[in-house]
Amino acid sequence: MPHDPPLLSVEGLKVHFPVHAGVIRRRQVGAVKAVDGVSFTVRPGETLGLVGESGCGKSTTGLAVLRMQAASAGRIVFDGTDITHSSRAALRPFRRRMQMIYQDPFGALDPRMTVADIIAEPMIVHNIGTSRAERRDRAQDLLAMVGLRPDMATRYVHEFSGGQRQRIGIARALSMQPDLLICDEPVSALDVSIQAQIVNLFESLQDRFGLAYLFIAHDLAVVRHMSDRIAVMYLGKIVEIAGRDALYARPLHPYSQALLASIAIPDPELEASRPQISVTGEVPGALNPPSGCRFHPRCPRAAAVCAREEPVLRDLGEQAVACHLV
Ligand code: SF4
Repeated sequence: MPHDPPLLSVEGLKVHFPVHAGVIRRRQVGAVKAVDGVSFTVRPGETLGLVGESGCGKSTTGLAVLRMQAASAGRIVFDGTDITHSSRAALRPFRRRMQMIYQDPFGALDPRMTVADIIAEPMIVHNIGTSRAERRDRAQDLLAMVGLRPDMATRYVHEFSGGQRQRIGIARALSMQPDLLICDEPVSALDVSIQAQIVNLFESLQDRFGLAYLFIAHDLAVVRHMSDRIAVMYLGKIVEIAGRDALYARPLHPYSQALLASIAIPDPELEASRPQISVTGEVPGALNPPSGCRFHPRCPRAAAVCAREEPVLRDLGEQAVACHLV
């Protein structure tokens, strides 16, 4: 897998939202830099976890990859094709191959439609299946695939529990035979016992179909379980990206260290050798973020250079880190 060409390549992605002021003459006075120069790859069949506190730009990154949010700069390359500025028509085949799984499946599923119609709808849009009967049969197969009974196809969304709704959302996404699922906090709204079932479902579907996941979450235990590699985001930037085991055993960036300090790892020796660090204060706003390293107002290791110069993400072999002191 490490030598496979990437399925998704994101290069220098920026998503800035202009901020205007003035009643008569509106003028731009700044920009919220929600995503500010993010680069990563996802290989076929791989899970890349994207973690960080709420508001760090991880969900906006997912939306931009799907072209549901316009990029201000950078490139999104899917299976070798630059889709950053593709027209709607040119984007269509790629849209089919990249599907989104939402945190709140209830909000994403039409309560007036039967489950069969919810699952069949994208098939109609993308001309998959030739007849209503064929699409209904496929919807029933997909329900079985995600652990629901095929006869549930005639029911409505409000008749299902949160975990079952998430399964329906996954079945709908699978109806497109995607290569990549962008999962945005897909289990955080579910009870802990149900979370484990949905995580297991994601894993078995990955084994079965070779799916790649961009797995966006703030729950570090879930991300650890799911991911092959993990990118840590802070205020619109990736500050560290590493293999799962390397990151959890030896986080190098002070923010990663603080984030992971709260997670217990099963190996007591590793646990004892892992740097323990804590940070205080709120995450600053993405409008006018701190100069230099954005983490410097909260970083216990900050030096003079940190407020002056922005650290670049440097490749250190197993890990890439953006910190002047690493
Ligand atoms: Fe802390 Fe400086 Fe490293 Fe930023 S660059 S994480 S402020 S030590």
